[in-house]
Amino acid sequence: MTAKRILIVEDEKPIRDLVAFGLRRAGYEVSEAEDCRSARARLVDQRPDLMLVDWMLPDMSGLELTRSLKRDKETEDIPVIMLTARAEEQDKVGGLEGGADDYVTKPFSPRELLARIQAVMRRASPAGGEDVLEFEGLRLDDSSHRVTVGEAEVALGPTEYRLLHFFMTHAERVFGRGQLLDRVWGGNTYVEERTVDVHIRRLRKALEPYALDRLIQTVRGSGYRFSAREG
Ligand code: CA
Repeated sequence: MTAKRILIVEDEKPIRDLVAFGLRRAGYEVSEAEDCRSARARLVDQRPDLMLVDWMLPDMSGLELTRSLKRDKETEDIPVIMLTARAEEQDKVGGLEGGADDYVTKPFSPRELLARIQAVMRRASPAGGEDVLEFEGLRLDDSSHRVTVGEAEVALGPTEYRLLHFFMTHAERVFGRGQLLDRVWGGNTYVEERTVDVHIRRLRKALEPYALDRLIQTVRGSGYRFSAREG
């Protein structure tokens, strides 16, 4: 399994360094931003699995940044933990209303922060009953990595499996090839966009015997959409 990526948005370098150090030691891949503008630039290059966002940032408040991320379809499901020096209950409520998934008050210990990160990540990708996805008779069980249609097992390669999993959790939306590369392959890979088409073709071929290849629709000029409706 690849390391989970965390983006830290914090303007105070000593705190950022300390947090980054602790997270790298715990096995996370860390990227850093000192303000909201650079956080946005980092988000474009690479999608993090979680973000730590300081409340007080020089260009925009961390709360505003969190709100705007949660309003955007591209970033709404990235879990956010807010870091703040203010302990007042009012701020905590404000942070959670702004869409933050959790809240850590400074000063915090690296252990406490790690425990919160793990808890938020567990919630973001539950290990329990939500592992099974179903769509139009197609069933994907993420705990056993099996894809079935009725009694029949659909044999998929690992990339086709990840692609299908992504589509099943993001139905009805159109994704460009670049977006699929970022979300399914991971932003740091140097894969050409036409690789996406190759794997889409393989996935369609695997679904064809069940007449479910129709679910993967080509949206001319834009990319692909997973949908049961007529394209
Ligand atoms: Ca700050």
